[in-house]
Amino acid sequence: MKIICIGRNYAEHAKEMKSQLPSEPIFFLKPDTSYLKPGNPFFIPSFSNNIHYECEIVVKICKVGKNISEKFAPKYYNEIGLGLDFTARDLQEKCKANGTPWEIAKSFEHSSPISKEFINKSTINLNELIFSLHKNDSIVQRGNTKDMIFNINQIISYVSQFMTLKTGDLIYTGTPAGVGKVDIGDNLVGYIGDKKMFEVRIK
Ligand code: MG
Repeated sequence: MKIICIGRNYAEHAKEMKSQLPSEPIFFLKPDTSYLKPGNPFFIPSFSNNIHYECEIVVKICKVGKNISEKFAPKYYNEIGLGLDFTARDLQEKCKANGTPWEIAKSFEHSSPISKEFINKSTINLNELIFSLHKNDSIVQRGNTKDMIFNINQIISYVSQFMTLKTGDLIYTGTPAGVGKVDIGDNLVGYIGDKKMFEVRIK
């Protein structure tokens, strides 16, 4: 299983990162060892002093495919979950400044918590799906999939030009504005609509 993450897919988040809006999807990979089992706490790693949460809609690939056209992309996913793309922002800033790959900032152990439950796409409106992240009972991120720069079908079509998508692969579709630092003792709870999807304690 590979984890594909889209960067800068919400204009307001690109703005808060002082980044340009992309003309094509930007993606990077996280290894399967970045997966955090639902219910397990996240331990802040010693190599960073600035771990950020990024709450994102996650698409689960249900069929092998490559060079998938946008039109046929819906055949390749049935379920939607919610995840966190934990990011060592301090290391990412260094990578950006030096023009080096982002793996040390993004792909570390347990940096990808994902909801245990996935929702069948037939039961929701994917073009206008509201999701949110609460930190210690205050809302820190609110997203709506209608604000994505590239929608799920465009993402699948683009990524599958470069690599085969396999059953079980997960695609993080980008984070809305409001990213921020986590500290020991924080509690993060993610929702799709008013349905609680995950809870992650920070240790
Ligand atoms: Mg992200």
